[in-house]
Amino acid sequence: MNVEVLDLEYRDTPHTIAAFLVSAGRGPVLVETGPASTLPALERRLKEHGVTVGDVRHVLVTHIHLDHAGAAGWWAARGAQVYVHGRGAPHLIDPSRLVASATRIYGDRMDMLWGTVTPAPAERVTVVEDGDAIEVEGLRFTALDTPGHARHHHVYRLEDIAFTGDAAGIRIPGSGWIDLPAPPPEFDLEVWKQTLARLRAEKLTAIYRTHFGPSTEVSAELDRVEALLDETVETIGALEARKLERPAMLAAYREWVAEQARADGAGEDTIRTYEIANPRDMSVDGVIRYLNRRER
Ligand SMILES: [Zn+2]
Repeated sequence: MNVEVLDLEYRDTPHTIAAFLVSAGRGPVLVETGPASTLPALERRLKEHGVTVGDVRHVLVTHIHLDHAGAAGWWAARGAQVYVHGRGAPHLIDPSRLVASATRIYGDRMDMLWGTVTPAPAERVTVVEDGDAIEVEGLRFTALDTPGHARHHHVYRLEDIAFTGDAAGIRIPGSGWIDLPAPPPEFDLEVWKQTLARLRAEKLTAIYRTHFGPSTEVSAELDRVEALLDETVETIGALEARKLERPAMLAAYREWVAEQARADGAGEDTIRTYEIANPRDMSVDGVIRYLNRRER
């Protein structure tokens, strides 16, 4: 079994979004598609490995956020079978709500960031539930329902490794900092902790993060994500309690993260890469929404 990390160079920045080319000597399986805006880069990367678009018959996506599955419809329209969480599947088949909510956030930057999101033909979408095995091309993936970042999130286990999407946070090469993507509307601290417990119990020898790449320091990094969940909610909650205006709040949170990333060895370029992979305003909004929900 072989795993290649494909750097999609999202926004011309290396190490922001990855897709993974997995093979056991038969056909290739793609894990994550990246956004439609990075399809030219993805095609280039596949070609470097001698793979054409037509060779890819099976595509797994961890969840339907545009940085992970924005190009899923494109692949499905070319005949690939796309495997996705049951909560996400309807939005790949009809992405209109997904696109509308992203457009509310990104406005006229939508196309530059994400490209064109196209619908997946329903018969090309396979709904995967918790514990399901996906047996394709001589590989056997197991889907693990792993909410917390989003309710439509799967981690895919393969032998003793796993593709963790956003469930194990973000780690950009060149620093030890683990970054937390806590977006609205579904970020949930307690639920995410249950996901971490589940991932620990899997006794994985390596995890492959979409942002970005493999790591073998699995248990220490899962512990770090757990601590960061509390610290992040506490920090943003404290900023909210001070009734700061949103720009001031955003600046304070950004600096809080940057300081710790620097302490963990990240240079300014790496900190920028973290922010591209994980825009700070998303976590501020996600945590506030979570706190409001918890209060009610
Ligand atoms: Zn992501």
